[in-house]
Amino acid sequence: MAQIRIENVRKEFGAFTAVQSSTFTIEDGEFFMLLGPSGCGKTTTLRMMAGLELPTSGQIYIDGEEVGQKPASQRDIAFVFQMFALYPHMNVRGNISYPLKSQRMKASEVKKKVDEVAEILGITDILDRPVGGLSGGDRQRVALGRAIVRDPKAFFMDEPLGALDAEFREHMSEELRALHDRMGATTVYVTHDQLEAMQMGDKIVVMNHGVVEQFGVPQDIYDWPATKFVAQFIGSPPMNFLDFNGMIGIGGTEVRVNDVVMPVPRSIEGANGPITFGVRPEHVKLEDSAPYRGRVIATEYLGTTQIVTFDTPNGLLKARVASHEVVNTGQSIGLRFDPRTITLFDAEKGGALRSEANEGVLNHG
Ligand code: ATP
Repeated sequence: MAQIRIENVRKEFGAFTAVQSSTFTIEDGEFFMLLGPSGCGKTTTLRMMAGLELPTSGQIYIDGEEVGQKPASQRDIAFVFQMFALYPHMNVRGNISYPLKSQRMKASEVKKKVDEVAEILGITDILDRPVGGLSGGDRQRVALGRAIVRDPKAFFMDEPLGALDAEFREHMSEELRALHDRMGATTVYVTHDQLEAMQMGDKIVVMNHGVVEQFGVPQDIYDWPATKFVAQFIGSPPMNFLDFNGMIGIGGTEVRVNDVVMPVPRSIEGANGPITFGVRPEHVKLEDSAPYRGRVIATEYLGTTQIVTFDTPNGLLKARVASHEVVNTGQSIGLRFDPRTITLFDAEKGGALRSEANEGVLNHG
């Protein structure tokens, strides 16, 4: 299996730059997610790592060896495409054994390998069935089997579950993750679905407009988004932004809006200029004594929780609260924010205001 590192990788298509300058490392055995909206450059990044596209500049290393200009055939990476990409005229065994036969492996060895892979995937009983009549899940397993059987250095998957309905998708994503945990193979997975990335990934790269916005473990990305883009892209509903553009009274551990003082993490120290105050819906507490107030404009019942939308002096704000809390449209309610859960952003540039003081607050505070 393999460690993969890309350094300052850039891809231009004519005058258009699809990937600006990406740098990150995928450790051996990781389940690694490339996440971002449509057109952000995920697939192009994956294709460059696989050797299906050559970078305009920058380096790509697999296990320390620079492979940036090498063709795909010399990189030993298996692509798992969306399900249904099977050879329809072959049965299951034929599909899985195809890559080995094309390497001219001996028939007895091919059989042994295919039997092993079928065992791992739990599809031994369908090896002789034609692929035409298989269920969606079995087709996906066969596609995986065809990739696994080659024993590649890494698996690359580009939205492999994209065509599935929600329930089945969840089932297959659990199965994929469990399979990865059994095999320990380096896996790079492209998705635009933040929930899928958070649920499945050991690490995530979040991309936007060809730029790596953040790279890290899911919890850090959720708790400490590096940019406003990440804060909004991750989480449902996304992080709330309150704009303190006309803010006065920045100082130490509070911001002052008119006559209301709000505590903030110590990262505010030294900041000057307009800031955006970011708080996740589940970190907004409804407390009548709190001086900062909002008027309820909508409630959305979700079973155990409800989403309450407030109109505040600094913009709309959504709170996730227990569904038994009684909240009425039109009501004015005090809102409290635990300073340890707040992220402050440079309102114009979009970057999070960081300091050592707030980096570890959630983990250690
Ligand atoms: P999606 O999920 O929609 O595939 P993506 O994040 O995977 O999005 P890419 O497929 O990497 O995005 O494409 C990034 C940008 O590069 C897009 O604007 C796309 O139109 C452009 N692009 C990709 N391949 C080419 C190409 N061969 N020639 C010109 N432009 C391209």
